[in-house]
Amino acid sequence: MLSDFYKPGELPVSFELYPPKTDKGLRSLMLQVERLMKYKPAYITCTYGAGGSTRGKTLEIVEKVKTIFQVPVAAHLTVVGSSVADLRSFLAEAERRGVDYIVALRGDPPQGETTFKPNPNGLKYANELVELINDEFSELGVLVAGYPEVHREAPSPQADLDNLKRKVDAGAQVVVSQLFFNNSDFYAWREKCEKAGITVPIVPGIFPINSLAQISKIANLCGAGIPKKLLEKLSQKPEDAQWHSSVGTAYASQQVNDLVDNGVPGFHFYVLNQAEATGKILENLAEHRKSNKAEAK
Ligand SMILES: Cc1cc2nc3c(=O)[nH]c(=O)nc-3n(C[C@H](O)[C@H](O)[C@H](O)COP(=O)(O)OP(=O)(O)OC[C@H]3O[C@@H](n4cnc5c(N)ncnc54)[C@H](O)[C@@H]3O)c2cc1C
Repeated sequence: MLSDFYKPGELPVSFELYPPKTDKGLRSLMLQVERLMKYKPAYITCTYGAGGSTRGKTLEIVEKVKTIFQVPVAAHLTVVGSSVADLRSFLAEAERRGVDYIVALRGDPPQGETTFKPNPNGLKYANELVELINDEFSELGVLVAGYPEVHREAPSPQADLDNLKRKVDAGAQVVVSQLFFNNSDFYAWREKCEKAGITVPIVPGIFPINSLAQISKIANLCGAGIPKKLLEKLSQKPEDAQWHSSVGTAYASQQVNDLVDNGVPGFHFYVLNQAEATGKILENLAEHRKSNKAEAK
């Protein structure tokens, strides 16, 4: 079972990839995954493009990763633009290709639209997709998304929490958080989840920043607040990509070390198809855990 990875003291990591556009990108991705294998991931996931645009690619990548590296894999799946029949066919294909888990999502409205319009023969919310998987494809373990800073369309924090509980009650075994940069947001949200009776592992999603432009765009898209001090530091050298990457990696390292000291069950890294930053963060984490152990003796 998926949640078995998250045993106390184990601290499993998972890595999220996205489908590259070209064959060259795919070859480069496999080299990055090879590097990441050093960190013994519990599983590797691949995103599903907006509007189902990477439907076939997502499955192709997870199948390839599983075949080459013999690691469990999860395909992301959104309900955007799909009928229930389409979703069933994706899930059947995923099972056929040996996919282990599904990250079950609603997805975002298409670019330029602010409200999500479900396919007339499709599903409205992620909890319905979780139900579908549990009822008809029960071999597939299910992960869902959670929002430390509240999903931008949720009418209230409580409504968002009720939704997360609905997804877990429908059979999700693990919650992976949206990226965030203030650990205090994560801790406050985790406490609320626990009070709401959500007992499955709640795994922080870590995003190593590697460019100022990219993080401004992403934070804007997903509503994550960037601490002023971090933004100021990144802005000191607006054109220097190496600076952004080293500031971003150092920041994520601090975040991760603090999260470990505060009892998180594991980590999900948004690796953005680049192994280097995540590798450095995990090496810093190993050092941090070693010195914690030495201090405890
Ligand atoms: C770990 C992770 C991975 C992701 N991977 C992808 C990906 O691969 N591809 C992609 O396109 N996007 C991805 N996303 C983004 C995600 O699709 C968006 O955040 C999307 O807007 C919401 O998806 P969800 O599954 O959380 O939706 P839901 O859980 O369905 O929630 C959507 C909104 O509806 C509200 N809601 C839910 N149920 C009800 C109800 N019954 N009544 C009223 N309101 C309700 C919720 O509070 C929320 O505001 C990912 C996000 C995360 C955190």
